[in-house]
Amino acid sequence: MSKLVIVGTVAFDAIETPFGKTDKILGGAATYIGFSAANFDNIDAAAVSVVGGDFPQEYLNLLTERKIDIEGVEVVKEGKTFFWSGKYHNDMNSRDTLATELNVLEHFTPVVPESYQDAEIVMLGNLHPLTQQSVLDQMSKKPKLAILDTMNFWMDIAMDDLKAVLKNVDVITINDEEARQLSGEYSLVNAAKKIHEMGPKYVVIKKGEHGALLFNDENMFYAPALPLAEVFDPTGAGDTFAGGFAGYIAKTGNVSFDNMKKAVIYGSALASFCVEKFGTERMLTLTDKEIYERLQQFKDLTQFEIELK
Ligand code: AMP
Repeated sequence: MSKLVIVGTVAFDAIETPFGKTDKILGGAATYIGFSAANFDNIDAAAVSVVGGDFPQEYLNLLTERKIDIEGVEVVKEGKTFFWSGKYHNDMNSRDTLATELNVLEHFTPVVPESYQDAEIVMLGNLHPLTQQSVLDQMSKKPKLAILDTMNFWMDIAMDDLKAVLKNVDVITINDEEARQLSGEYSLVNAAKKIHEMGPKYVVIKKGEHGALLFNDENMFYAPALPLAEVFDPTGAGDTFAGGFAGYIAKTGNVSFDNMKKAVIYGSALASFCVEKFGTERMLTLTDKEIYERLQQFKDLTQFEIELK
């Protein structure tokens, strides 16, 4: 059984989409990654994060009910939980961040529980790059695969720290705009090349409703996103993708390029559920049967026979 360490925010989110608006609901990168990775059996996952005294116990229970260990989730009783608010444009592919209140995150020092310091897979969710590095530093042996996710917010305020931690990870998952910002290249092929040079041997570029690209030097793989009639709320899709990717790698223990292709498909399939309802709502009711059927849809969508003369 592979161990998976998940680091990231556990948060309150307030979301506005063309379909509606929510008050503070459960969110956070580690939450979405955890809910997604929890769909894989035979893995032993733990979350490392921080919340304030205002964070409901029922929300933490949602993680433990899905067998995500929360020993590494610190509760700062007198502090306030990280809060993020965003508003989506009509195309649902782009959003404006309305508020990012770091709160307890500002003075957060992550602690990886001792029993997870030898984890094979480490998923560094969106957080300050120094926090991500601190988690890597606590591992007692080099993980089989270290995956890092980040966003423009950290590029804007901590680019040098981000470049430093990138030297120590195997895989980066970012969206297309962030790949351009990080590399200074418009073409995603050139962006991936530049990002390879920064450290990660594998570069996954998420393109929202246009799927995801996986690069490994000269090798390239494309997984579409399932065309959905209704996208309700894209929040957390990127993290859900990362959780599916990391969860599948942890379950199989295989870090070859071919296996990563399957991990990208799992990530895309799980993300396609996330966007169907507000926040984490859809991930909480997801069944194995639904995942199986969606994977079948992915296969049907992309499989074709062509005779090459
Ligand atoms: P995604 O839609 O996959 O990019 O992730 C959305 C989640 O990221 C939300 O649930 C937020 O709580 C969380 N989030 C937003 N901004 C940040 C940030 N600067 N650092 C860490 N997590 C964030």
